[in-house]
Parts: sequence; C-alpha cells; structure tokens
Amino acid sequence: MTLKPHQSYLTTLKKYFGYDSFRGDQQDIVEAVVNKNDCLVVMPTGGGKSICYQLPSLLLEGVTLVVSPLIALMKDQVDGLKANGIAAAFFNSSQSSGTQQDIIEQVATGKLKLLYVAPESLQGVHYVLNEKNISCIAIDEAHCISSWGHDFRPSYQQLGFLKASLPNTPVIALTATADKATREDILQQLKIPRAKQFIASFDRKNIELEVRPANNRLTQIIRFINKRPNESGIIYCLSRKATEQVAKKLKTNGVNAASYHAGLNYEERSKVQEDFIFDKTQIVCATVAFGMGIDKSNVRWVIHYNLPKNIEGYYQEIGRSGRDGLKANALLFHSYADVIQLRNFARGASNEAVQIAKLERMQQFTEATTCRRKILLGYFGELLEANCGNCDVCKNPPQFFDGTIIAQKILSAIYRLKGSEASGMVIDVLRGAHNAAVMEKGYTDLKTFGIGSDIAWKDWQQYIIQLINQGYCEIAFHKHNALQLTEFSKKVLFEGAKVALTKPVDYNEIKKIAEKE
Ligand code: ADP
Ligand code: ZN
Repeated sequence: MTLKPHQSYLTTLKKYFGYDSFRGDQQDIVEAVVNKNDCLVVMPTGGGKSICYQLPSLLLEGVTLVVSPLIALMKDQVDGLKANGIAAAFFNSSQSSGTQQDIIEQVATGKLKLLYVAPESLQGVHYVLNEKNISCIAIDEAHCISSWGHDFRPSYQQLGFLKASLPNTPVIALTATADKATREDILQQLKIPRAKQFIASFDRKNIELEVRPANNRLTQIIRFINKRPNESGIIYCLSRKATEQVAKKLKTNGVNAASYHAGLNYEERSKVQEDFIFDKTQIVCATVAFGMGIDKSNVRWVIHYNLPKNIEGYYQEIGRSGRDGLKANALLFHSYADVIQLRNFARGASNEAVQIAKLERMQQFTEATTCRRKILLGYFGELLEANCGNCDVCKNPPQFFDGTIIAQKILSAIYRLKGSEASGMVIDVLRGAHNAAVMEKGYTDLKTFGIGSDIAWKDWQQYIIQLINQGYCEIAFHKHNALQLTEFSKKVLFEGAKVALTKPVDYNEIKKIAEKE
C-alpha cells in the first residue's frame, strides 16, 4: 500500500522526530518543499523552523544543503539529528582536511541526508554542489543576506549563486525576523522571486509590553525584580560596561546576577549561559550577543536597560521570554540619551539611512499612544484589529478623540502623491507650503494642497506617526522613506472606518522635565 503524502509526512515526523502532529504551517511547508517549490519561511524563534527542511530531506533523494552562520551550534544540531537516526554532517574550517574529504565523499556517494555549511565554507564543497547530489538548499537565518535586515553578513551576499547554478533545486529560506522590505530583498538576492511565503503570526500574547522613561532605571529595576523573586530574566544593555555595572549593582542588592558580553572568553561565556539555563544564575545582564540559540523556556521577563537599535532586534529579544506560553513581561526603558548615542553609532555605516529610519521607528514605538502590540505586529506586516489588552497603553489608555477627518486628509494626500514622498513633503502639501520643492513638483495643483493649514507642522508629524503605528500607512525604507498606503488605508478612505487619535504631546516639554530629574 502506498501512503498518501500527508500520511507519510506524519509517519516520518513521528518516526524520526517523535512528534505526533505538525505545528502551525509546518506540514504545508514540508509539502511545498517536497514538491520542489522555493519557499520563504518567517517564524518566530522556537516556532519549529528546522522540521521544515529536515523532514523533506528524508523524503527527497540526495542531500539537503543547510547554510547557517551559527558554526557554534552546528555540531549540536548534527549530533541531535544523528541521535534520531538521520545521516547528517557539518563542514567548516575547523575540521582537518581528511575529515573534510571524507564528508565530500559522503555527499558524492549519497550517504548523507543533511549537510550543514557556513557560507564562508561553501567554496570548499563546490565540486559536489550539483543537481545530482543536492536535493534541496536551506538558508537558515536568511535575513543576514539583507542590508535592510538588522544582522547583515557580507558572506551571505554571494548565496544567489546557489539558485543560479542549481535552478531546479528548491531553495527554502528561513528567518525569525524580517520586515517586508527585508523579505523582498531576501527573495531577490536568493533569486527565488516566486517563492511561496509562509509568514507565521508573530503575536506573543503572553508577553506583557511596557515602556517607561529611563529616570532612576536601577531603582526601578530592583523594585521590579523584588516583586518577582526567583524569576529568570535577562537585562539587555548597550555596552559591555553597562552589563557589568548593572550586574554589580544587583549583586550588592543581594540579587543573583551575572554579566555576559563579547569581551568574555569562550569558557566564561559558556559558564554564564549554562548557569542561566540550569537556573543557577537568576538574571543575566547582557549585550545583544546573548540569547542566540539559547533554548530556555522559563525566562519570565526581559528588560531593555537601553533602547534597542530597531524593532526587529527588540522583538527578537523580548521573544526570549515566555517560550513556555506562560505569562511573561517585557519592560523597556526609554531615554533620549540612548537615541542620540544610537544615532552616533549609525553615522558613517554603509546603510546609515536605513539604520536611522529603523531607529526612528523604534523611538516612535516608545512614544506610542496606541496599543503597542498593534505597532509591533504592524511593523511585521500583520494587522491586529482589536487592541491587545496586555500592554501599558491598553491598560492605561490616553484620551482619544475622533481623528477620522485628520486621517482621511493624511491618507488622501499620500494617495495624491502616489506614495512617492516622505512625511515632510506630505505635511508641506497638507499645510499648503509654497516652498521650492513643492512648487517645482507642481504639488500646488493637488486637490489636497493646503487642506490642513489649520494644524501645526509638529502636530501633523505626530498624527502621521499615530497612523503608522495603527497600520494605516507605512514607511517604505527602500524608497527614500516615502509614506505609502497599506491594505488598511482603504478602510478609512473608502469604507468609512473611524480612526481614533490622541492629542499631540509636547515632547520638548517632557524632555525638559526628564533632564531636570
Ligand atoms: P526554530 O528553529 O524556529 O527556532 P526549532 O526548529 O529549533 O525552532 O524548534 C523549536 C522547538 O520546538 C524544538 O525544541 C523542537 O523540538 C520543537 N518542535 C518543532 N516542531 C515540533 C512539533 N511539530 N511538535 C512538537 N515539538 C516541535
Ligand atoms: Zn495593547
């Protein structure tokens, strides 16, 4: 009797991985790969991406090539697969040439199902990279290919050659973190423009979101920890020095904390990780180097002592809490000093404009007056219709008024400008500014020109941010930060949806008060 495909997928899942059912989109993805479709999989960390290429590798003839930047984790992954009876190996520069030769032979003779290779080491296996040997190409951490992404790695940029030289081999790109622009860039660079996209929901309802001004951070943190005795947590800091200072301060207050950063040697870092995983250390104060590949389900909270560089990073970091699905907390401290410092870091980078634009989105998130989860999900292209009820804004809502007309004005200006202008020009058009750029482009003839001269420039700016935060329009980072309409805009422009806005806040005033404290 031949098995129906979905039956054989389940049998294989049970036999090799011991699971009784697929999670989320796993089965559809497996099927797409087995049927040789290119795929892009975006799933949160812990969502179960590995099965999406490991299972097809067992059903396809030949070797699945897995490109992964995490050399440190390859051995563990391969050992895990072998323990499940799957022929797997890794290939990297730490191996002797004898071992490398042996692995290449195993590929050529069809003895392997999975081969993990770092992008830098692909050159070493290039003679066995042909369609006879290779059944599928999996690109893990695929966001590393894109300079729009937050963790760009030049070694990823050459990976387009894989599809170019093996055009009939399916490519499956996987990542836990990619906004729309990054996703488009991944498809283009990997030369898989028609890939099937599987975007899992990013909603982690169990994580309570909160943002506070950074005044007296340490006192606030100690109070927060004292309310949560014995709960595991991570405190992310911008600098090595800060991780050490915060850990020291906590220890002098009797809290069981350690610090972690790239300045520690390998043994020291491993020890901190292990002690944390095995609950010997309650709290780790760390730079963002901490957490990649750490599988600890009972992290109860994540604090950002400093402002993260961008929303992708923030979301990935808070996502390390509450993996067990139980209640977790994410607390972010917001300070203007951090914004300035991060701006300075971005200056001179090859993708400076992108970094600054992403930082501005991060800042807008902290200043939000609407449900923070809506903003986060909106950032990843997911629309949450109702407020989440589990963030500080939902729990303590500001006063709203009916901003439908204001929203309509903004959105129709964006529409008339064909989504080609950044917010500054949109505001100039609304306010009817007669400056050189407006005149030159003939915008004075637009129907929306001057329909908002009654509202101050800075207030328009905040209203636009509120609309972005609510998903009614978006910034196209790859088109000079032009404001564009979204699927959601139609509801306001054509379907009579009401939009709630809050009165603009005078941030200069707040800043002055914050500086005095
Ligand atoms: P990701 O790569 O997306 O971070 P992994 O592939 O490492 O996630 O999977 C995360 C965890 O979920 C692992 O412990 C894995 O064993 C488990 N897992 C994956 N798929 C399933 C499934 N269908 N049923 C039960 N557990 C699963
Ligand atoms: Zn909310």
